[in-house]
Amino acid sequence: MALRTPKEYKEALRDGREVYIHGERVKDVTTHPAIKAAVEHASFDYEIYNDPELKALAVVKDENGKSISRYYRIPRTTEDLLLRHKLIDLSTERNGGVVTFIRAIGSDSIFASMIVASMVDKTAGTDYSQHVAKFLEHCKQNDLSLAGAITDVKGDRGKHPHEQSDLDLYLRIVKERDDGIIVRGAKMHTTSAPYVDELIVLPTRAMTANDTEFSIAFAIPVATKGIKLIARPMGSPASSEFENPLSSRHIHLHSLTIFDDVFVPWERVFLCREWQAAGPLAHYFAIWHRFTGVSYKAPSGDQLIGAAQLIAEYNGVADASHIRSKIADLIAYTECIRAHAKAAALDCKMIEGIAVPNPATINVGKYLFARGFHDAVRSVQDIAGGLTVTIPTEADWKSPQTHGFVEKYLKGSSDISTENRVKLFYLIRDLVAGEGAGEHQVVSLHGEGSLEAQRIAAYREYDLEKCKRLVKQWAGIE
Ligand SMILES: Cc1cc2nc3c(=O)[nH]c(=O)nc-3n(C[C@H](O)[C@H](O)[C@H](O)COP(=O)(O)OP(=O)(O)OC[C@H]3O[C@@H](n4cnc5c(N)ncnc54)[C@H](O)[C@@H]3O)c2cc1C
Repeated sequence: MALRTPKEYKEALRDGREVYIHGERVKDVTTHPAIKAAVEHASFDYEIYNDPELKALAVVKDENGKSISRYYRIPRTTEDLLLRHKLIDLSTERNGGVVTFIRAIGSDSIFASMIVASMVDKTAGTDYSQHVAKFLEHCKQNDLSLAGAITDVKGDRGKHPHEQSDLDLYLRIVKERDDGIIVRGAKMHTTSAPYVDELIVLPTRAMTANDTEFSIAFAIPVATKGIKLIARPMGSPASSEFENPLSSRHIHLHSLTIFDDVFVPWERVFLCREWQAAGPLAHYFAIWHRFTGVSYKAPSGDQLIGAAQLIAEYNGVADASHIRSKIADLIAYTECIRAHAKAAALDCKMIEGIAVPNPATINVGKYLFARGFHDAVRSVQDIAGGLTVTIPTEADWKSPQTHGFVEKYLKGSSDISTENRVKLFYLIRDLVAGEGAGEHQVVSLHGEGSLEAQRIAAYREYDLEKCKRLVKQWAGIE
């Protein structure tokens, strides 16, 4: 099969999958009013094949000279990492500042699985590497979309999987057969799962010797019997595209992803009971996923900078020194994020033949992004002013009874039309004050792992021994 068109991507989603939203089973995810905008947003990953500049980035040749998506190219060099970063950055910028996420998380999961499968095969005599390689080939050759289901529902966070009051609170093996395993449990927050072809499922944490039945990884088509997705849209479906230029068109859906005794054939299993490998698998996934995360965050910084600068000009305050210094802070924030993605690629580590982004650098990049995002949003709210939330509605703008007043009294800088100022306020409201804006703030904290996870990883990965050695040297300590 060649590279797919957006139409082919959408047609493949009509496969009888079991998706629920607002308490009801969905007949067709591509036409459901609460889901179709997310599907359209995601299909940009296939539309980019028609854009010459993006296609040059998004499409590469495989070893047989066939065109495949760059997402499925195993990174072997810094250059591969930088181009993957650029693809995510640029396609996010072109698609409303919201990453598409129908291949990035999945391929992050594949690369982590390849590294760990190779390690496990060497010690346990398994052939997981072949399973992962065959699955990657399947994704490449059929130009598939993929979601990563890693985060378990986890129950009591203070307890290990085997200590939970209900063992199903972490995904587990409930039966082994000659031809595969049967799994039960649930993952949560699974971005894009309702509208991708396949799920790749990894452990969310390190396991102990008592947690063998929870130490599993595999890939499975979404439309497999027993997989039930309870979908949650980002915000409420926007009532007006005019008032919500971003959230009416650029959204994700996330699901509570239930595995109700799902059969997984052996050839799709990437880890089965090798509990020592669960931690490394979660670790390598997190590195890859934070590289994706930091790559798509910089365009949202640019979105905040553009909104702040433009509204400052429209309001006539662009030359005020405190406005300039807040915008300079936004620029410093965004450049810092982008620089971390590039630096993590430049200083990558080769592990099992795969170029892995520098773990300390990428964790610090994600940490800085998450820690600073609320402050960045606050600056835009501050610069834009209260009309961000009190701007009259689209109906008032369009009503013959009120339009004249709104147009007269919402005038800003004399050389800017009121209409453009109103449109910009709607966008800013959508970006920093609407329902979707609140969700973006939570995503910035918890997406790709909570703040503490990055602090811990940065602490573990940094070369503390070198720092101690230097200080001892400077202090004259033997
Ligand atoms: C919008 C969105 C999209 C996402 N997409 C995906 C996806 O596609 N696939 C996927 O697999 N995951 C996804 N995630 C999951 C994301 O990685 C998790 O939200 C994140 O790891 C935090 O887990 P949690 O939500 O269960 O919060 P919790 O784990 O409950 O964390 C809440 C707080 O408790 C702390 N905490 C938790 N456990 C402990 C402990 N044992 N000891 C001390 N402190 C603890 C945390 O540090 C945090 O401060 C997504 C999340 C969001 C918000």
